[in-house]
Amino acid sequence: MLNRNKNFANLSSGYLFPEISKRRAAYAKAHPGAKIISLGIGNTTEPLTSHIVEGLHAEVTRLGTAEGYSGYGDETGLPSLRAKIAEVLYRGLVSAEEVFVSDGAKCDIGRIQYLFGSSVPVAVQDPAYPVYVDGSVMVGAAGPVSAGGTGYAGITYMPCTAENGFFPDLSAIPANSLVYFCSPNNPTGAVATKAQLASLVAAARSKGSIIIFDSAYASFIRDPALPLSIFEIPGARECAMEISSFSKPIGFTGVRLGWSIVPKELRFADGTPVMQDWTRLMTTIFNGASNIAQHGGLASLDAKGIAETRELTDYYLKNAQTIRTVLAGPNFRKAGVEIFGGDNAPYVWARFPGRKSWEIFDLILDTCHVVCTPGAGFGPAGESFIRFSSFGHHDQVAEACERLSTLAL
Ligand code: PLP
Repeated sequence: MLNRNKNFANLSSGYLFPEISKRRAAYAKAHPGAKIISLGIGNTTEPLTSHIVEGLHAEVTRLGTAEGYSGYGDETGLPSLRAKIAEVLYRGLVSAEEVFVSDGAKCDIGRIQYLFGSSVPVAVQDPAYPVYVDGSVMVGAAGPVSAGGTGYAGITYMPCTAENGFFPDLSAIPANSLVYFCSPNNPTGAVATKAQLASLVAAARSKGSIIIFDSAYASFIRDPALPLSIFEIPGARECAMEISSFSKPIGFTGVRLGWSIVPKELRFADGTPVMQDWTRLMTTIFNGASNIAQHGGLASLDAKGIAETRELTDYYLKNAQTIRTVLAGPNFRKAGVEIFGGDNAPYVWARFPGRKSWEIFDLILDTCHVVCTPGAGFGPAGESFIRFSSFGHHDQVAEACERLSTLAL
């Protein structure tokens, strides 16, 4: 029989979200009457907006005509969409050829692991979106978990805590490594300032490292002083690539559309442009994003689409404020709960001093019938934290918060 890929055996328990679903399902089975509300995973809940739907419809109609039909498209994306992303979302900081349209940021993270291979040292913010670490373990760049259970061998965890303002000590970045950095951050909701990103770029350049900057939540930034992209920072073009997504800005979590930016100046140690290998990879193991989805993406980048995106992201940010308000209530205050995020990001990150994340998760599920996300699932420094997601209908979020207001801690 075929041997199992040993990298998979190095993965610790299941991926975080299936584990949460398992616990939720077990609870629902044991308590069939409980009306469970999720403030858990970051899945969007509001319908697609009308102008973007028109963009999708128009392409479906076109594909149903002899003159308009097209099969496989360019693996790197519609030229018009690449140009529009460069112009509207990057205001000319990158060129159309540096934009690679894809089926989403998670899929690009998987392909990035393939690009850099199994011998690259990896550094992540701790806590972090689990795909950076689990994907690294799958390709053999990390693992197994150390005896103390504090993280995978080969991964440098850079703690992002309340004490350091959720911005890590960059001296920990290993030489010639891949540094995953997410801002606005999932799960902490923190957004790095321009000065912080400038120090990240300086550190990556001095260490010969490459930053994978994940800006999947940039559309939630409301403070105009905060950077939307790593490419706002001088010097980033030589040391960073960026991945991003239409999932959260326009509700394309199921439609699937994202992009990556690889600047022409970014090179490997032997001088090969990273763009050359990324193009080879994307044109070999990816066959282009759905043409229908790409026309929806295009619609989102004209004036009407931009206004709809703003309205949709504002809707979720309002939920974040509702959640922040309840967490500031007397029961939480008495237990010393501290609240972070939610202003320029769809996640609220709350610390429950002296308590374990999974303990609080179970308590909230048992007594409020609300599902949240235990911070420990995002990395060792997430222990004692809970992530509350603002993706939900207003009435559901309001009801969940009503229940949380009576939580005995
Ligand atoms: N990056 C981060 C930080 C995320 O939180 C998510 C989804 O939750 C993704 C990427 C995935 O985005 P996509 O839907 O484009 O695959």
